[in-house]
Amino acid sequence: MIRPILLHPDPRLKKLCAPVPKVDDAVRALMADLLQTMYDAPGIGLAAPQVGVLTRVFVIDCAKGEDEPPDPVCLANPEITWSSGETREHEEGCLSIPDIYAMITRPEAVRVRFLNRDGAGEERLFDGMQAICVQHEIDHLNGKLFIDYLSPMRRQMITGKMKKLKRERARANA
Ligand SMILES: [Zn+2]
Repeated sequence: MIRPILLHPDPRLKKLCAPVPKVDDAVRALMADLLQTMYDAPGIGLAAPQVGVLTRVFVIDCAKGEDEPPDPVCLANPEITWSSGETREHEEGCLSIPDIYAMITRPEAVRVRFLNRDGAGEERLFDGMQAICVQHEIDHLNGKLFIDYLSPMRRQMITGKMKKLKRERARANA
């Protein structure tokens, strides 16, 4: 099921999300919805709070274009256990902040412990685009958006633009 994606500013995007007690059928259904909603958008990552579910679950698929087979990864209760000292600057965007992009600096690689779709514990090293994506999505679970790394002035400008966009969309749907 494709779910509506919340747009910034929304109080649900600023909340600390709760861990899931275990990966059961309800969590698997949420993961499936997140994947479907992400592919439909389209995007390369989507976190549960972005569809208004305040739990520590997200999905990514950083396969490049149509030449590469899909590479979906579903993560619950992720914990970064190691971050590289090396950092990398990369342009980020977010499905909750459409059409806004900014250069963000993050560790180049991270090791993450999480529960997979089967509910089994896994630990994986993510690098390249996946490392950026995983860190961006984990931020969502802690109520943090990529624009929170920008200066207050730039953030205010973006939030102003987003408020205007939301008003326009609300009017179009009225
Ligand atoms: Zn995002």
